[in-house]
Amino acid sequence: MNNKFLSLVANEKFVADELINFCKENFSFKILSTRTLSNHALEVEIENFDINKTQDLNKIFNQKQIDFCIRDKNFKDFKVLLCDMDATMIANETLDDLVKITGSDYNVDETSKLAMEGKIDLRTTLKNRVEILKGQPKSLINEVLKGIKFNPGGKTLVSTLNNLGFESNLITGGFKPISTYVGKELGFKNVISNEFNFDENNCFTGDYVPITGQKNSKYMYMEKINKEKNIPFAEMVSVGDGSNDLEMLKHSGLGIGYHAHQIIKNNILNQINFTNLETVLYFLGIKEENFII
Ligand SMILES: [Mg+2]
Repeated sequence: MNNKFLSLVANEKFVADELINFCKENFSFKILSTRTLSNHALEVEIENFDINKTQDLNKIFNQKQIDFCIRDKNFKDFKVLLCDMDATMIANETLDDLVKITGSDYNVDETSKLAMEGKIDLRTTLKNRVEILKGQPKSLINEVLKGIKFNPGGKTLVSTLNNLGFESNLITGGFKPISTYVGKELGFKNVISNEFNFDENNCFTGDYVPITGQKNSKYMYMEKINKEKNIPFAEMVSVGDGSNDLEMLKHSGLGIGYHAHQIIKNNILNQINFTNLETVLYFLGIKEENFII
């Protein structure tokens, strides 16, 4: 009963038989069956997987630029998708983009990086960055929206899982209405985020409603889903890149790091390092022919 599924995903077409032989030569687990998910994605059912050998998997597949995932359940056993926004579903760090537009000399890139690495307190850095916006017009947000770059595969990920009946959530330490715009464009059913406060002149007050402003806010939202809808953590799939995603990824049935900061790479087994967001679908064992594009 200790069987697991190993998904292997590359950017380029590969020969499945070669990869299967490679696994047989390099790893001690027994291969029970294989399924082709696309010409660059394969699922292998394995037995006798030694969890202590994950470092070997990491090393060997990283050299081959192949993303891998180990899980023990089928996609039909999952019900909820939770995705981080900044540097996950989109390439931007949108609060930083907003601060930069004001012309402030606050070192947003470095501060944001340290926060996402878990080296400084998220709540403090959010507060500091939002304070810089005080007195600036709300219309700056339109400039940020124009610069948003969606990461490849995001729309397919959300559409496909929506179609399979998942409850899709965009959960971000970012802010409305940026989050609601991204959520709508990508087809998320729910958007959970912070909210800026504006004054009567439609200017930022420098304050905000901290809905997801804490280190563990995303995990706390999982608890809310669990309580309100009676869905166990084991049926949740989550994707993220930064320290404020860590608890969510750790507690999800399937938590996936996406081109992640080191703190996530060090603590989460399943990572997308080379490929795009469609890989989440392959990690769940979904075939490309069932993708909704
Ligand atoms: Mg992020």
